[in-house]
Amino acid sequence: MAGSINRQILLKSRPQGAPSLDNFELIETPIPEPGEGEVLMRILYLSLDPYMRGRMSAAKSYAKPAAIGQPMVGGTVGEVVKSRNPKYAVGDLVLGYGGWQEYALSNGAGLRKLDPAAAPVSTALGVLGMPGMTAYVGLTEIGGPKPGETVVVAAASGAVGSVVGQIAKIKGCRAVGIAGGAEKCRFVAGELSFDACVDHRAPDFAKQLEAACPNGIDVYFENVGGAVQQTVWPLLNDFARIPVCGLIAQYNATIPMPGPDMFSVLRKRLLLRGFIVSDFAAKQGDSLRDVGDWVRSGRLKYREDIVDGLEQAPAAFLGLLQGKNFGKLLVRMAT
Ligand code: NDP
Repeated sequence: MAGSINRQILLKSRPQGAPSLDNFELIETPIPEPGEGEVLMRILYLSLDPYMRGRMSAAKSYAKPAAIGQPMVGGTVGEVVKSRNPKYAVGDLVLGYGGWQEYALSNGAGLRKLDPAAAPVSTALGVLGMPGMTAYVGLTEIGGPKPGETVVVAAASGAVGSVVGQIAKIKGCRAVGIAGGAEKCRFVAGELSFDACVDHRAPDFAKQLEAACPNGIDVYFENVGGAVQQTVWPLLNDFARIPVCGLIAQYNATIPMPGPDMFSVLRKRLLLRGFIVSDFAAKQGDSLRDVGDWVRSGRLKYREDIVDGLEQAPAAFLGLLQGKNFGKLLVRMAT
């Protein structure tokens, strides 16, 4: 084990509106020793995800806020470097919830062993992890895409959106992505083979989206809310479905944004359903099997946006809330 220092990034204060670097603090503490039943993990990858904005706030949510003065919470892939838990040996690679720090203790609850021969271990935080499963269950369980239908998803080059559109294609749908900027759109329509991708920052975004959806929209996988949502709604077909997965455009809002057109909900008999990926825990096996097969066979591609070093985490996370990431955002701590 190199050195005896554990660097951690703590949540120092709760943001009002958009978070800033001042909300975080980098500290150095001794690497902890595992107690009876515990393992010590050296973190290899830390996942940075939009939900962390919610955890920074004390507002009521489906999960407890992160505690001030404690390491920020987050999913991690780590290597067991000390073990006093008979289920885990030194050298095991594990998916866990180690948080924004270089070393973390665990009592083994919630850890999952990873096989690096089966897939790169970083994918356990992306396409073969929580974001991939979110796309899978949200689209298949709530969106119910049928062959020939049009599925639209925003943040289409990102961890969830990229998988949503590719599964839509696998299901025989027309997949239309929305992304920020020409480069992301080229990737989505080219590399990921969506039928079209529209830049939400383009001045004629609404016109372009309408042209990309000549038969209207049957499934709108809601990742962003805000202005994008308002452009999508008029294009919804009768009986359209909207898995309401995330509203990242509104996470920093301090006053309520104008809501969706609820008259359309009535007139078009729309079904909206919010979901948290953990509602579908029983589907994890299906998701890992199907998404794993599609990744291995090359039918489903993924892209990672990797920054190096724990000290980069706050700035990278703030960038995620502004669309600066391009693909699943990960912090590589060690390899
Ligand atoms: P991404 O990898 O897609 O990164 C976030 C992306 O959101 C940015 O790159 C940017 O893409 C887009 N974005 C940010 N701000 C805005 C804005 N103001 N307007 C439009 N787009 C914006 O993140 P994930 O794939 O991890 O997450 C996508 C969504 O899914 C989030 O809302 C997240 O909270 C939600 N989610 C929900 C889960 C659940 O259980 N319900 C589980 C996991 C994620 P671009 O530049 O292309 O606009």
